[in-house]
Amino acid sequence: MKTIVLVGGGHTHLSLLKRLKTNPVPDTKWILISADNYHYYSGMFSGFIEGLYTIDEIRIDLKQAAVKANCTFIKGSLENIDPVNRTIHTENGSFSYDVLSINIGSHTSNPTIKGLKEAQAPLKPAHEFPDFINTLRHSPHVAVIGGGAAACEMILSLKAWKNKHHRRYDKLSLIYADELLKGRGSSAGKKVEKLLEEGEIQLYSGERAKSIEGNKIMTANEIIIPFQHVIYLGGAQSPAVLKKSGLPVDEKGFLKVNGMLQCIDFPEIFAAGDCIGLTNAPELEKNGVHAVRQGPVLWHNLTAYLSKKPLIDYKPQKRTLAILSTGRRHGLLLYGNHSLYGRIMWQLKNHIDKNFIHTFQ
Ligand SMILES: Cc1cc2nc3c(=O)[nH]c(=O)nc-3n(C[C@H](O)[C@H](O)[C@H](O)COP(=O)(O)OP(=O)(O)OC[C@H]3O[C@@H](n4cnc5c(N)ncnc54)[C@H](O)[C@@H]3O)c2cc1C
Repeated sequence: MKTIVLVGGGHTHLSLLKRLKTNPVPDTKWILISADNYHYYSGMFSGFIEGLYTIDEIRIDLKQAAVKANCTFIKGSLENIDPVNRTIHTENGSFSYDVLSINIGSHTSNPTIKGLKEAQAPLKPAHEFPDFINTLRHSPHVAVIGGGAAACEMILSLKAWKNKHHRRYDKLSLIYADELLKGRGSSAGKKVEKLLEEGEIQLYSGERAKSIEGNKIMTANEIIIPFQHVIYLGGAQSPAVLKKSGLPVDEKGFLKVNGMLQCIDFPEIFAAGDCIGLTNAPELEKNGVHAVRQGPVLWHNLTAYLSKKPLIDYKPQKRTLAILSTGRRHGLLLYGNHSLYGRIMWQLKNHIDKNFIHTFQ
């Protein structure tokens, strides 16, 4: 009997469980270990902040999903991997594996901003976020650091909640060094800037947050921005546990895997989603679309590895579709350099997200 340990109940492992449910693998024991009983679906964070969805609508019960797939679920946070002895350690015990698969996502933090760690409650890992959202809703001044899709979407959704709940005079600030929605075409950047200005969000364009002291953010240009609560959404950061465990990581700390989603030094370790650095596509954007699309490849390769069959490559598509929820059930669709704004875009997003989550609930 071989043991496959899946660590992290992220998008890719969820899609594995779906396959496992209908395709049991003989003589194989499957264990899913994740930091929380639930997986929170980031595609619906913005709708949750705005109050369009309840907490139960945006989360997946991992224990239930595992049990249905004949997989043992253990709540535990990965603390260390011993690849030589093929064992992982969590606060709830140690587990040996024949094959390990890692899908623990990324973090929203930035160690280069001095004082950020002490100042913010992170949105990711996602199981830590629900309580924090309520604090943000009632905060008199939230500062968001970042100018990409997640940062713009979150601040617009927070503004929409505040408008609905008679808190329109609360202050919101967005601090970003590069242009808004960089890499998504100038019309998308201009559109989102207009929406932010209409929402009376204070924009600190061209400002790179450097340090935080007390309730003040200092930028590289020596601008001081006061705040009550701060969130960093300036890009995915790697989970420290990968490097700490002595696994090969790229220069940003993400686990180095080849095109087959296989660790370059330990062939019995596979990984997917935000936590990887693909050696054949190092600049690949970290998003849920890739994490989900890696599911069929990871499933094939885990089962093929056990039966000594050939593995296959993950071939990332060049462009992915993103739809930002921008408040009041409106959305901004981004595809390559193209963008479209309106109510229909939000309806499309709502349909896609609800469909995705319903398949696991
Ligand atoms: C605010 C925000 C909005 C976003 N919106 C979108 C969007 O609309 N569309 C899109 O494509 N992408 C979006 N993204 C990016 C998206 O969240 C990630 O790319 C995606 O979640 C990656 O999936 P994953 O499976 O790798 O990890 P995750 O979805 O983060 O899942 C990781 C899982 O592992 C568990 N875990 C974490 N640490 C440990 C540990 N140490 N031990 C055990 N378990 C652990 C977590 O509890 C979680 O269940 C957004 C990101 C943010 C921050």
